[in-house]
Amino acid sequence: MTKPLLGGLILVAAVASYYAGHFGVYFDPSMLRNVLRTDVAEARELLTPGFVLHVAALALPPLFVLQRSRLRRRPLRRALAIRSVSVMFALLVAAAALGSVFKDFSGQMRNHKELRYLITPAAPLWSMARVLSREAQAATLPRQPIGTDARLGASWATAKKPALFVIVVGETARAANWGLNRVGGQSPTHDTTPELARRAVINFPEVSSCGTNTEVSVPCMFSLQGRRDYDEDAIRGSESLLDTLQHAGLRVVWNDNQSGCKGVCTGIERMRPDPANLPELCDGERCLDEALVESSRSLLRDANGNLVLVLHQLGNHGPAYFRRYPAGFRHFTPTCDDEDLSKCSREQIANSYDNALLYTDHVLARSIDLLKELASRYDTALLYVSDHGESLGENGLYLHGLPYAIAPAEQTRVPMMMWLSSGFAARNRVDPACLRTQADKPATHDNLYHTVLGLLDVRTSVRDDALDLTAPCRS
Ligand SMILES: [Zn+2]
Repeated sequence: MTKPLLGGLILVAAVASYYAGHFGVYFDPSMLRNVLRTDVAEARELLTPGFVLHVAALALPPLFVLQRSRLRRRPLRRALAIRSVSVMFALLVAAAALGSVFKDFSGQMRNHKELRYLITPAAPLWSMARVLSREAQAATLPRQPIGTDARLGASWATAKKPALFVIVVGETARAANWGLNRVGGQSPTHDTTPELARRAVINFPEVSSCGTNTEVSVPCMFSLQGRRDYDEDAIRGSESLLDTLQHAGLRVVWNDNQSGCKGVCTGIERMRPDPANLPELCDGERCLDEALVESSRSLLRDANGNLVLVLHQLGNHGPAYFRRYPAGFRHFTPTCDDEDLSKCSREQIANSYDNALLYTDHVLARSIDLLKELASRYDTALLYVSDHGESLGENGLYLHGLPYAIAPAEQTRVPMMMWLSSGFAARNRVDPACLRTQADKPATHDNLYHTVLGLLDVRTSVRDDALDLTAPCRS
C-alpha cells in the first residue's frame, strides 16, 4: 500500500510541475474542477510528447529508487525516531534552499497567497479533496429557486410573431484579438472579424469576464449573483438565468459543442450536434462550431413558439487552436500545428489562435444569416459573449485559469456583441443607434442576466435595470 501511494504522489507532483512550469497553471479548487470535468477528447490534446518527456524525467528516477528500496517493519519507538530525524532533515534542506532568498520569498508569499497553489503535490491534492467534498455536499441540496415570479411583459401582448433569441457562449476568445475592438488604445494585429464587420452588429469592446476558466465563468455569467459578490457555492446552488426564462413560460434549449453546461442547464432541454449527421464538420470525436448552427436548423424548422436557444461553442479552446478551424480558415500563417506549444514560436501560436477566432466570426455570421432567413416567422436577436480570455505568451504565460486576483487582462477581457433584427428592436422599442453609443462603456458578465431579461421583456422582482445594458436605450 505504501509504495503505490508514494508512487502516486510522485506522479501527481511531476504532472503538476509540468503545467505550472509551462503554462503558469495554479492548482486551486476551480482549476481542479476543470480537471475533473475534462472529457477524453480534451485530455488527449494535452498528452503531448513534451509532457510525457517532462513527467518521465522528473518521475522515473524517484520511482526507480522507490521500486528498489525495501520496506522494513521496525518497533514503534525506533520507527518514530527515524521519521522525526528524516522530517527534520527535510526541513533543514528546505530552509537551506530558501535561506538565500527567504526575504523575497516570505514577502511574495504574504502578498500573493495564490502562490501556495504552486506547491506540489500538496496543492492539487488539497484542491481535489475540497472540490469533491463540496460536490458531495451540493448534490444533496436542492437548488435555490431564482425569479419564480417571472412573467412576460406588456410588449408580448402586441407582438405579431414569436421571439427567437440566440445566446452564443464563446470559449477562450479574448478581447485583445477581436477584430471589431478597434477603439481606444487597442488595436488587434489581425482583422479577425471581417464577416461580422459587414453585418450591423453592436460591439462591446470593454467587457470583463467573471472568471478565468469555464468552470467559474459559465455558471457565474448565467447567475443573478455574478462577480459583484462572488460566492461559488451560492452560484452553484442556485437556479440560473435559463430557469428564470422558463419561469416566464419561454422554451429554452441548450445546444452544446463542448464538455457540458457546467450545471447551468439542469432541468433545461439539451442537445448536441450528432457527428453521424454532420460528417463534413465532425471527425467522430469533435465537431467544428458550424455544427451548432446546422444541428439547430431542425429545431427551428419544427418550433413555432417562442424559443431561447443557447449555443455553447468549442471556440478557441487550446492548446490545439489549429484543430478549431477547417483548412479554409488557415488565413494567418505560419501556424502552430502541434498541441505542444513549446514547439512553436509566439507568432505561430498567435496566428493559429487568430485563425480560430476568424472561424468564430464566420460561425456567428452564419448564425445571424440564419436568423435573417427566419425573419418572416420570428422576431430574432443574437447575443455573443466569450467565457474568459487567454494568455498567448505575455509575461511567459499561456492558456488561462490564473486565480482571478492575479489574472492578467488577457485572461479576463472578452469580446461581446449583439445583433437585433428590426422586428425584434421594434417590438421591444430598443434603439440600436443608441445602443451603439452606449456599447463603449465598460461592462461585465454581471450584466448578462439583466440584459437578457430586458431584451426579452421578462419582468421579475430580481431584475435590476441598472445592470441592463439596453435599459438606457429603451423607450
Ligand atoms: Zn472556457
